[in-house]
Parts: sequence; C-alpha cells; structure tokens
Amino acid sequence: MNEIRHDWTKEEILQVYNKPLMELLYEASTIHRKYHDPNTVQVSTLISIKTGGCSEDCGYCPQAARYHTDIEGNDLMTVNQVKAQALRAKEGGSSRVCMGAAWRNVKDGPEFDQVLEMVRTINKLDMEVCCTLGMVTENQAKRLAEAGLYAYNHNIDTSEEYYDDVISTRAFKDRVDTIENVRKTNVTVCSGGIIGMGESLEDRAGMLETLTRFSPHPESVPINALVAVEGTPLEEQPPINIFEMVRMVATARIVLPDSQVRLSAGRTQMSREGQAMCFFAGANSIFAGDKLLTTPNPDIDEDMKMFKDLGLNTQKPFFKHEQRASVEAENSQYQSLGEKPKWTRPDHKIERNEQKKKEAKEIRA
Ligand code: SF4
Repeated sequence: MNEIRHDWTKEEILQVYNKPLMELLYEASTIHRKYHDPNTVQVSTLISIKTGGCSEDCGYCPQAARYHTDIEGNDLMTVNQVKAQALRAKEGGSSRVCMGAAWRNVKDGPEFDQVLEMVRTINKLDMEVCCTLGMVTENQAKRLAEAGLYAYNHNIDTSEEYYDDVISTRAFKDRVDTIENVRKTNVTVCSGGIIGMGESLEDRAGMLETLTRFSPHPESVPINALVAVEGTPLEEQPPINIFEMVRMVATARIVLPDSQVRLSAGRTQMSREGQAMCFFAGANSIFAGDKLLTTPNPDIDEDMKMFKDLGLNTQKPFFKHEQRASVEAENSQYQSLGEKPKWTRPDHKIERNEQKKKEAKEIRA
C-alpha cells in the first residue's frame, strides 16, 4: 500500500479520495510518518519577479493581459531587488525562494540572462532556488541547472480532460514536455494543480494520476485552492470547503508518498484548525509571505505563531537534495540558442474566457 507506484488508476485514486474521512486521514498520516518527519514543514517564499501582461488565457489567473483585473503589473525586477526580498524571506524562516514570471515561455535573451543571475545570487545565499517561468526547452533547463537552480515549478493545473475548459492557449502536452525537459537535468520538479475550478472529482483524481505517472514523482506537489479573482473567467466559482482540501492533500500524500505536498494558494480562506488538519493529512510545505504572486496569503508572523502552537519545525534548506553548484555566466558551457520552439496554440474557444476578454475590452474602451 505504501510503495511508490506509477500505475495508479483514476478509479483507484477516486476510491482513496472518497474513503470515510477518518480512515483516509489515518492512512495518509501513517504513510506520511513513514516517509517524512510529521513535525517538520518546509517553508517557501514566492517572489513575483515579473507581474502581469501575460499572453496566456488561464481562466484562473489575474495576470493574463486579456482580462481586466486590479493587479499592478511590473517589468522584470533587478537582481538586487530580488536579493533583498530573498534575504527578508530567509530571515523570516523560508528555506526556498520561488521566482515567478508571468511568461508563456522562456525566451533566450537579456531577460533570461538576468533570471539566471538571480538564480546564482539566491543560491549563494544558501537558499533553495526555484523558478516558475512558463514552458522551457531542454537547453534552457540545462542553463538554469548550471546556474544552480534547485527546483522548477510547472503545474499541470488539472486533469488532461478538464484542461481544455480552463486554458485555450497551450496544450496539456506542453506542460508535460516542459517537465520532461527539466527532468533531463538535476533540477527537481515541482508540479501540482488547483482545485475549485469547477472540475469533477474524477478530474481531481485524473490530475493526481498524471502526477503519479512521472518517474520519479515530482519532488514537490503544490495543491492550490482557487482564489476566485474578479475579472477572471472563474470569478464566480464558489470556494471549496475545507474537507475537500483535506481529502485532496491526504490523497496526494497516499499516491505520492515521498513528495513534499505543499499548501499553496487559498490558505487565507482556511482556518488554523483546517490547516492543522491538512498537516496531519500529509501536507509538509507551505508558501509564506503576504502575497502569492498576486493573491493574498497569511502573514509570515501568523504562520510562525501557528507553527509554534502546533509544535512544527521549519525544514532546513537542502534537507532532501544537496545544494547545486552555480557556474558563473562567463564559464557556462551552454549558449543562448535563440530557439523559437513550437509550443502548441490550440486556440479552441472557451466561452467564459471569451466573455471576460470581451468585457475587459469594453472596460478599456
Ligand atoms: S498562470 Fe502563468 S501562464 Fe497562465 S496567464 Fe497566469 S501568468 Fe500567464
């Protein structure tokens, strides 16, 4: 039951998800104790290094340029700005910094070179450094690895079947291909998804099924609860209830026993008791800091107080995998290839995305 498997079926995963809650919690917690220290939680800080103006149409995302939302965009931050935020995160107890840029895919050029320098800089602060920059080619993944990247985040978001109801500007396969490009390096993979987007329970199981197919499993698996932002196509989605989150975390823990399961977006909507239940169910990582890219997140002091009340410790950096060496730009063995990869543009129509795009145009007119 506790072995690492890559052949979970959606039906089996659904059976796990639908168990009586106390049984599910007991099973998940037992597996959690076998693979992890149940009193240690890894803390990551997300820095939005380039915000808004994204060409994609992800139905949940306020950073898509085509929707009208209240977020304030910014161009790519400087290395020093990122370094200052990383140092604050380190002081606050974070072991990992995740840098997010609202890009469809990485483009070779000065901005990517700047991100590589950010990677080197944060690695030298002895923090795990992660990036989420959109789709990457194999050469770009190798350049990130050479700069000292510890993890690359690329969420599959939802099941392959439901993907077409949320995003029309890229295909599910592009996500998988990017993860496979990252896997050709020593960079660990962070990949999970979002619940509460109107998907069925089968879709939730389908998302986990896809994650179990990766070999090895992603080292981190963020489970996000949708934060419905006004102006996005999913603005009217009702919030999920806490037991759905607990079930999803517990199921992820059972089918991905060795991965770090991360409570990500949506924590502000959870009580401390709800979060404690998620930790018991096998969550062992959180995002800290008052913002998650553009949506609110609990204050780091509140998190640390909760950790104290629950007797939880923060995980040290490089606990599971050793720190990568950073090769300086002038010694790099990889070149910028100026690639123009043909990532898919399925461009099928999603009615609610089209509607929100139309409304945004009218507001701007
Ligand atoms: S989720 Fe990422 S790719 Fe999608 S619109 Fe937002 S920033 Fe762009």
